[in-house]
Amino acid sequence: MTTTATTGTTSELDRARADFRQQLLDADLLVETGVPGLYGRSGTFENIVEGVDRVVVAAGPGSDATKLRFPPVFPRTSFERTDYIASFPHLTGAVNTFAGSNAEHAELLAARSRGEAWDSWLEPADTVLVSAACHPAYSRYAGALREGGELLDVYGYCFRHEPAVDPARMQAFRMHEFVRIGTEADAAQHRDSWVERGLEVLGSLGLDATAVPANDPFFGRAGRMLAVNQRTENLKTELTVRLYGDLDEGTAVVSCNCHREHFGETFGITTVDGQVAHSACVGFGMERIALALLRTHGLDVDLWPGQVRDRLFP
Ligand code: ZN
Repeated sequence: MTTTATTGTTSELDRARADFRQQLLDADLLVETGVPGLYGRSGTFENIVEGVDRVVVAAGPGSDATKLRFPPVFPRTSFERTDYIASFPHLTGAVNTFAGSNAEHAELLAARSRGEAWDSWLEPADTVLVSAACHPAYSRYAGALREGGELLDVYGYCFRHEPAVDPARMQAFRMHEFVRIGTEADAAQHRDSWVERGLEVLGSLGLDATAVPANDPFFGRAGRMLAVNQRTENLKTELTVRLYGDLDEGTAVVSCNCHREHFGETFGITTVDGQVAHSACVGFGMERIALALLRTHGLDVDLWPGQVRDRLFP
């Protein structure tokens, strides 16, 4: 998910973000790790996330969807098929491990004891960190879909290498997604219906959200073209909440995405009548919604409006 372009001066915005971050740490909502954008979560913060998840699930397709849960790492072979490395090399995280000999281990330890980098003794493992909760799901559907396609409920941790002061831009965060794989019409209908429903979910929590056309943060010069295409073809709509007043255009807390035939093509998924499958997903950014609630209703959860508390903590 992107945070849209800034309108305030950078220093004001940076200060507002740093202030909010410090408030969250002082209130023991987040736990500092020493790495920008990587936090532990307190019990209070987790209770908010769990409450948000209950509300999201209640608005979702329920037992009509196939529930799937994946670890925060998935096979490199599936990662290859997402094409993520082409568009987002700067956000990628790949797992490396040691597979050398005793002699090489001794070299590694000697370098380490000299205070030198030892990573060069590691080599790629067969796993990559999940960057979008839906990515590990597609490989399972290679081949022809059943009649009516698939509707999935996927929830998990995502990694994006974005060290930032803004607590809303975490390196590791959870997304609860509802994913549709089927015909072009199925996918478009899924995406469109979730813009409205997503706004209702956020509104029911007292959040003032706006639907805005958006693009992913594609890398480099070629990426700028992809971003323009994504916007002109209206493939991505973000539901944003202003965490920093007028200093920026808001933070995306929900993202509604049409992938068109991208995953159908790369994972070899077809509809019953042999067409390349289309897919779409809506992703609820759990930490970002929790932060939007804290920003909107205050850092003391006990003082939140009764109606919001009743929704989150029934
Ligand atoms: Zn997705």
